[in-house]
Amino acid sequence: MKEIKKSNKMLNVRYEIRGPVLDEADRLQAQGVDIIKLNIGNPAPYGFDTPNHVVDFVTGNIRNAQGYSDSKGIILARESIRDYCIYKKIDNIDINNIFTGNGVSEMIISTMLALLNPGDEVLIPSPNYPLWTSAVCLAQGNAVHYVCDEKSDWYPDIEDIESKITSRTRGIVIINPNNPTGSLYPREVLEKIADVARRHDLIIFADEIYDRLLMDGKEHVSMGEVAPDVLTIVYNGLSKSHLAAGFRAGWMCFTGNTKCASEFIEAVKTLASMRLCSNVTAQLMIPEALKDVGKPDSLYLPGGRMFEQRKTVCEEIAKIDGLSARTPDAAFYIFPKIDLKKHPIKDDVKFALDLLHEKQVLIVSGSGFHMHTPEYFRITYLPECDVMREAMHRIGDFLDGYHQ
Ligand code: PLP
Repeated sequence: MKEIKKSNKMLNVRYEIRGPVLDEADRLQAQGVDIIKLNIGNPAPYGFDTPNHVVDFVTGNIRNAQGYSDSKGIILARESIRDYCIYKKIDNIDINNIFTGNGVSEMIISTMLALLNPGDEVLIPSPNYPLWTSAVCLAQGNAVHYVCDEKSDWYPDIEDIESKITSRTRGIVIINPNNPTGSLYPREVLEKIADVARRHDLIIFADEIYDRLLMDGKEHVSMGEVAPDVLTIVYNGLSKSHLAAGFRAGWMCFTGNTKCASEFIEAVKTLASMRLCSNVTAQLMIPEALKDVGKPDSLYLPGGRMFEQRKTVCEEIAKIDGLSARTPDAAFYIFPKIDLKKHPIKDDVKFALDLLHEKQVLIVSGSGFHMHTPEYFRITYLPECDVMREAMHRIGDFLDGYHQ
């Protein structure tokens, strides 16, 4: 178990997924203002439904969810997660090293709380899904951001990673496919990261929640496959793949060199039992949902909504002077760049607020993903193509002549 030291760093804990722009959007909405929301990765409000067979299975079996389960999760769910790992070519998965959680979010927080001593460092991509930084902060660790550069297809910069490793570095977070960039990392990049982790004795935290949301015939390689000799925790769940974010079905698997991790796993077990168990209704869904392993998701094929919405948003961005974006490979996010020579912007939160006030379009500014320069923002392209077109026209109009 980790040593517990008192630190006033807890006073500085910030969880930045909300913020002034979202608060303002809520205020405007409460006044009846109609806003096009391109800010959140929650498919349900945009007309995406959890597959019928999964919902039917859960409703038919709801009475089996009345009691607490094993704190790691019901055996049937963990067996199906193990089978999913086998499908992903992750070797030697022990069912005792699989934990179900109330979404991947809970698993991220519990691993950071279990592992980190005050001042321990975790390497996290920039840009990143901000919960990772917040979870490290909550566990009194230091989030050290490494560069993912748009010029290199948003892949992690291996040299930058190595240059930031210190005696306090415990691990490295890889979000693949990535939120917010939509980039999918090739095997060679993953192998280089595994090599760094191997040489510096780091744990790999592999957030693979978007692993099935792939376009253009691309394939996802799991970090668990690439680094079988390195302690790797692979995180996944049903929020995105099965459009089931509200059910809160997530999990994590300790893979690779788990022999060196018995104390860490024990600490995670303690935290899991402190919350008794994860939502049992959501656990029941997992085996039913994972029956579709290997089946392509028609939403991401040509003609499917996600595929067509990506096409629309890319086409519309290309029409806007001073805006560009790398085409995403996966998920439903795009991370456009504003040409600061054409549109001098110093404060990206002000940009998002001004856009909201003037055009009633809600985006998330790059600093929300720990970018340190003001030219990026994230668009979630979940709305239908005509709404996406309208939103992009408004952004184009707004940018025309905008300066701070
Ligand atoms: N990890 C990433 C990269 C995400 O984008 C999200 C949600 O958007 C999560 C984890 C959280 O997922 P869950 O709904 O399983 O808590």
